[in-house]
Amino acid sequence: MTVVTGESDATRAYDVLVVGSANADLAVRVDRRPGAGETVLGTDLVESAGGKGANQAAAAARLGARTALLARVGDDAYGELLLDAQRSAGTDVRHVRVEGGARTGTAMIVVGPDGDNAIVVSPGANARLSPDDVAAAAPLFAASAVVSLQLEVPPATVRAAAALAGEAGARVVFNPSPVPDALDPELLAAADPLVVNEHEARLLSGDAAGSAADRARVLRERGARSVVVTLGGEGALALDGTAPEPVAVPGVAVRAVDTTGAGDAFTGALAAQLAGGAPLVEAVRFAVRVGAASVTRPGAQSSYPSPDELPS
Ligand code: ATP
Repeated sequence: MTVVTGESDATRAYDVLVVGSANADLAVRVDRRPGAGETVLGTDLVESAGGKGANQAAAAARLGARTALLARVGDDAYGELLLDAQRSAGTDVRHVRVEGGARTGTAMIVVGPDGDNAIVVSPGANARLSPDDVAAAAPLFAASAVVSLQLEVPPATVRAAAALAGEAGARVVFNPSPVPDALDPELLAAADPLVVNEHEARLLSGDAAGSAADRARVLRERGARSVVVTLGGEGALALDGTAPEPVAVPGVAVRAVDTTGAGDAFTGALAAQLAGGAPLVEAVRFAVRVGAASVTRPGAQSSYPSPDELPS
């Protein structure tokens, strides 16, 4: 890929392998949220490509990283939409299985008057991504420098992917979202880094009163090899494996239009940079710019930048 500053691992055919979800995002804006038993009218429906796994793959591929996605979609129009979006970003989709008789995962998004989202996800084919799918893709793991994981597919599948990545010598970027009640210790130990937003950092550290830096330290003490906390417009914190203190990377001032999928843009970019050999702090600096670029345009994948579209 072109954007990295370190040495790319040329012995591996892929920079980034993403194992995760692919969802069609179905969004409607409303002036007022309906209460129980109530119906309100919204704007026209907007259908777009989403899902944390697919978003992260699209972000990495758009930046020029050699990227593959291991996922499942249904044999319906939304599955086609998602595959088209990946192909146009440049992702290798040969390991996205089109599941006969299954519905593609969908996220039903209601955007309120202040831009606040309420979301219901129907996992559909994502729920069928299995440890067997991971095992069948073993050569792909061996061919990838970084494996990126989230929690929108079954936990056993994520655990199998982390274990196989470890065996294959691939670096694991782990984004525990949607946030679980407790973190699986094996997943935590594989995370290098664990990537969390402020909300996830607070819940997973159990540190209600502390700062983001305190929470990052707690999560590393619990077993993560390194930790990144994203801070919205304020940028991010990077706590490397041995560093005594996290490094604060400031945000990039932009006119934010829509923050949907900003965290995934950040994580995909981070995975791409780490695959290229960048040190953690440098990779976070780059990912902050990518996250900032993504909020200047509407949608998730549709907002992701190529290298020449990044703010300085
Ligand atoms: P989301 O759930 O909206 O996808 P998130 O909560 O997982 O996002 P954030 O911490 O909000 O993650 O944002 C991730 C990154 O995106 C930030 O580190 C930053 O680089 C960028 N970002 C987000 N919001 C803004 C903003 N308003 N201005 C500039 N950059 C932003």
